[in-house]
Amino acid sequence: MRKPLIAGNWKMHKTINEAIALATNIKKEVANLRNVEVVLCPPFTVLSHIYNVIQESDIKLGAQDVFWEKEGAYTGEISPIMLKDCGCEYVIIGHSERRQYFSETDQTINKKIKAALEIGLNPICCVGETLEEREAGKTIEVINKQLKQCLINFKVEDILGLVIAYEPVWAIGTGKNATAQQAEEVHKFIRNWFKENFSTSFSESLRILYGGSVKPTNIKELIKEEDIDGALVGGASIDAISFSQIIKNAIKNV
Ligand code: PEP
Repeated sequence: MRKPLIAGNWKMHKTINEAIALATNIKKEVANLRNVEVVLCPPFTVLSHIYNVIQESDIKLGAQDVFWEKEGAYTGEISPIMLKDCGCEYVIIGHSERRQYFSETDQTINKKIKAALEIGLNPICCVGETLEEREAGKTIEVINKQLKQCLINFKVEDILGLVIAYEPVWAIGTGKNATAQQAEEVHKFIRNWFKENFSTSFSESLRILYGGSVKPTNIKELIKEEDIDGALVGGASIDAISFSQIIKNAIKNV
């Protein structure tokens, strides 16, 4: 059985003191929870601080991006080994905001996923269609193309640890979430895609998160779906009470 995973993407929010306070409150709220994995993805500047806060808890640390080279003259970039050094176990790769504002492509995402996996970081690879693409009936075509290109040249043994986040672009930060049925349709497609392109056992163990305006209320319906294994949460993850409530509501059979 796949353990639900709830990851909080703090985006470009929180100074050091604010971040410590938020992580401390989340840690208190989720202290005794079992059967759910929690990952905090704060900005690079506070990774080490949050790593200290989450000691003696089951909360894990993730970053919001990574560069593919190990080191060198790449001003402003952060390497996989630097993230490991800060205590990261996860890294979000290919978030739609990075595709939209920072020229991220399926090709750069492929290189980042490879570099992350090589160092033992679990990539949370984001895929998703725009509103225009959904309205044109192209959702599955778009997801198929993104998966194909982001995961080109990998064998199944290379991608153990991979997590996929299905994040319809029209649902991110808009307050308009996909319905549980809309999300499940795409999640099922993604699981079958991995079955066909990698293996049945890998596809059955793969965690596929939904992302896009997840809140304490709508997670209950989403998590009931067979192929939805958790959520990548943006806005609601920077409030300790709502994020903790999402985590509690994501435990299957609640
Ligand atoms: C995200 O940033 O990945 C996200 C899903 O944002 P929000 O929850 O705010 O829609």
